[in-house]
Amino acid sequence: MNYLDNCATTKPAPEVLNTFNTVNTTYYFNPSSPHGKGLEANKLLESARDQIKSLLHLKHQTVIFTSGATESNNLVITGMARSKKQFGQTIITSKLEHPSVLETVRALEDEGFTIKYVKFNEDATLDIEHFKSLLNQDVVMVCLMHVNNVMGAILPIKDIHTLIQDYPKIHFHVDCVQSFGKLPIDANLMDSFVLSGHKFNGLKGQGILVFDQLVTVTHTLFGGGQEYGFRSGTVNVASDVSLAKAMRIALNEQDDLNKRLHHFKSMIETTVSEYPGIRVNSVANGAPHVVNISFVGVKGEVIVNSFSKRGIMISTTSACSSKRAKLNETLTALNVPNDAITGSVRISFDKYTTEADVQAFIEAFKAVYEEMKELLKK
Ligand code: PMP
Repeated sequence: MNYLDNCATTKPAPEVLNTFNTVNTTYYFNPSSPHGKGLEANKLLESARDQIKSLLHLKHQTVIFTSGATESNNLVITGMARSKKQFGQTIITSKLEHPSVLETVRALEDEGFTIKYVKFNEDATLDIEHFKSLLNQDVVMVCLMHVNNVMGAILPIKDIHTLIQDYPKIHFHVDCVQSFGKLPIDANLMDSFVLSGHKFNGLKGQGILVFDQLVTVTHTLFGGGQEYGFRSGTVNVASDVSLAKAMRIALNEQDDLNKRLHHFKSMIETTVSEYPGIRVNSVANGAPHVVNISFVGVKGEVIVNSFSKRGIMISTTSACSSKRAKLNETLTALNVPNDAITGSVRISFDKYTTEADVQAFIEAFKAVYEEMKELLKK
């Protein structure tokens, strides 16, 4: 089996699993308990938090452990918007965001917020002029993703940070799920951001929310008041300590990984672009681990099945939206023609991807192409 669907999830690293097991075996106590063992568990938890702060070079931010990016995005976007409502009611986001952002802002629309969607250019880069035209004194939040999970396009965080300096009410929130461990993240250019462990060889159900202005956020989860009152619920110490471990490993390996994955990406893009009827959607200067191509005129599901039969696991657009009957929103927003959207598939890498996996994909591609040749629109 060659696993090339790492934007959907990655394989947990053995070191991370070991840490998870060890902490669960030795420190299974509730870190809120007042007894000695509870205090020890709490100490471990706080040292994981401190480790994350130093890994991310955080100065004044707070790290909140959550169950992943969906929860983190929901908590901060809803909490922040509600606490800022008296100062302004416009949120800027984009149609390219993950559903955990898009559906959250759609729900806020029902609470009276105005949602403005910034446009992207055809190569999936942000239309900066359009972004500027959306800024006004009513904007209280900007919610955008660092690396797009369908196309791999990279957000110009620094430019946005600079542009919003004239609008002090704006809270700039970034979904860094697909960038962490692949590209450098400058935590000090954002007011909040989220990470998800299972996208960088950690575990499913672990993530963080990094946040600058904790005191001003309206809580949306009520209970025992854990995680500074922001995320009630018994804290999962083993998960949080193993997340810190996954982050440390990912950051140590980031630079080498980046180079290796760029090479894999260009191997695939260069090969397939020579075949009539194949369209390369991902861009050369995008993130190194995401390749998006279309078999124009053929259904993405058919392509994925055909690769799967050959032992190659890839994805139609994104796993979160592939079960939805409508066309992929990212590719639609980028004006990709409908028959290329329907026929689009994503190939994505992680640190366990080898050159042999990429070669296996290329061989399978040739066979799948032969099989689909008559159906392709050339
Ligand atoms: N944002 C992006 C960009 C993602 O790719 C994903 C995972 N598909 C999420 C958020 C949600 O992350 P989680 O699975 O941790 O809830």
